[in-house]
Amino acid sequence: MRTHSQTISSNTAQEEGTVQRLLATKSGDIISILPQDTVSKAVGILKEKRIGALVVTDEAGALKGILSERDIVRKLAETPGQTLPQTVEENMTSKVVTCSPSDSLVDVLKRMIDGRFRHMPVVENDRLCGMVTIGDVVQFRLSELEHEALQLKQMIVG
Ligand code: AMP
Repeated sequence: MRTHSQTISSNTAQEEGTVQRLLATKSGDIISILPQDTVSKAVGILKEKRIGALVVTDEAGALKGILSERDIVRKLAETPGQTLPQTVEENMTSKVVTCSPSDSLVDVLKRMIDGRFRHMPVVENDRLCGMVTIGDVVQFRLSELEHEALQLKQMIVG
């Protein structure tokens, strides 16, 4: 007889990753910049922190936009020699797609692929509570799938 706890779906679905579970494995730092700061400052932070995007927040911490290395590269080509003194606000994307801690990672991955971006700020009750990248999501999901595969093997072997 096969009980509910022995079905493949029940043993794997509960393992499916959420943003919250991924955030728990990351440092809680959210690297941000102000809208009136310069692109030059942004470039310095991106280099120092070895990241690809900054969340743009006002003094109160409210999300105003996102500035990624891609925005900067595009502007460097459009305004050669004049980009670094420009403001973050002039170069950021203001319509930011966010996710919530309870969202599934598979869903977040789909939204990143469809939207063609690699960063997603995490917001809960209007408060910024993290940032996930496509690399984080793929890496976390892969290790979960490996774990699930091992569990299935163990179920089969007994
Ligand atoms: P990325 O691939 O994340 O470096 O970003 C590619 C483009 O998408 C840039 O113009 C970013 O400003 C923009 N972008 C990045 N993340 C998001 C997001 N979560 N919501 C909306 N736009 C974004």
